[in-house]
Amino acid sequence: MLLSAVFRRSRLFFAFLILSLAQIAVAWIVPAQDSPEVRRVLLDAIAFLLPANLVILAFVGDKGIVSPAGRKWLISIAVQVGCVAILCWSRMAHVAAVLDKDFLPAGITGWSKISSAALVAFAVAAIVFAVCLARRHRPVESSMAWTVVAAFMALQAGGADSLSAIYFSTAGLVLMVAVVETSYAMAYRDELTQLPSRRALNEALVQMGDWYTIAMVDVDHFKKFNDTYGHEAGDHALRLVASRLAAVTGGGRAYRYGGEEFAVVFPAKSAEEAGASLERLRRTIAQSSFVVRGQDRRRKAGKGWRNGEKETSVTVSIGLAERTDYALSPNDVLKLADKALYRAKAKGRNCTVAARRARTSAGTRALAS
Ligand code: GH3
Ligand code: MG
Ligand code: MG
Repeated sequence: MLLSAVFRRSRLFFAFLILSLAQIAVAWIVPAQDSPEVRRVLLDAIAFLLPANLVILAFVGDKGIVSPAGRKWLISIAVQVGCVAILCWSRMAHVAAVLDKDFLPAGITGWSKISSAALVAFAVAAIVFAVCLARRHRPVESSMAWTVVAAFMALQAGGADSLSAIYFSTAGLVLMVAVVETSYAMAYRDELTQLPSRRALNEALVQMGDWYTIAMVDVDHFKKFNDTYGHEAGDHALRLVASRLAAVTGGGRAYRYGGEEFAVVFPAKSAEEAGASLERLRRTIAQSSFVVRGQDRRRKAGKGWRNGEKETSVTVSIGLAERTDYALSPNDVLKLADKALYRAKAKGRNCTVAARRARTSAGTRALAS
């Protein structure tokens, strides 16, 4: 919990809190009860609330711990603890009985130690997480999904023995891995485009072999695009360009270099080979149209606008350089690619330009020019 608080991962903090409360209750509070009814109520309530809370947590953002949203979570958890305590009163037995009601056919529930309501909560959680993760892998959701699985096994194991403790601890460890994984992603992945970041590029470059090609990709007239359609449409365009770049062929790997500039690295590829992939990529981007919503004042602007929307596209200019001269460092190759990009812009944009061949002396000359 401390780790998630330090890294400001509030969802994981609350997941830890919920898991710990469940584990404390299952391992210590439940066995301390004399009445088997109370033990049953506690286990039923925990088995229902645990997956339910984790599913809800997976869908709220990291909105802080001591923030208003965080306080609401803390209050909600306290209220749940209070409600479970009230349910344990003998006078509430008829309400608690609802939790324990067997409304599923015996064939489905017979093998399980937990109640029908809890089984449904676990099943819903499993389906929700499976759908969510099939769409896109996300460390937090993925860790919560595994936490649900481990919590299920812990409760299925009966709750109080060491096997349950192992499952609960596993759930905690999985959440801890997610804290580390999300922190890693924050450093190495660009939030807007989901491409690897400049930091990832720098690390990839120092690990590069002797032969590779680097391309610099820059969106054309992007300032004008932002001015015309707004910053939000600009962000949308960047995401679209990034998704095309991520699918670059020829073994290239795309990075967000900064702003509307991207770098694509082709390990063990010549400029010619990479150039063919990049040309295809450039054409694909130019042909990818998308809809922008006009700001009010632009709706009347006429041409191409329909119901305040307009179909548009962006183009990119690409400069690339191959590392042929062993004296060149990755940074030098990057500079050559940048110079080539400059020439692509000067040529009229929406085109791909390769750096002049940089052999031993020529390489130095190209850098100097
Ligand atoms: P050129 O064809 O010569 O590249 O012209 P340009 O307008 O694209 O070049 P310039 O470097 O002058 O402008 C880049 C613009 O990109 C300026 C900035 O507002 C915009 N930009 C940079 N990062 C982002 C971003 O994350 N989102 C949005 N929407 N715009 C961005
Ligand atoms: Mg630029
Ligand atoms: Mg630009």
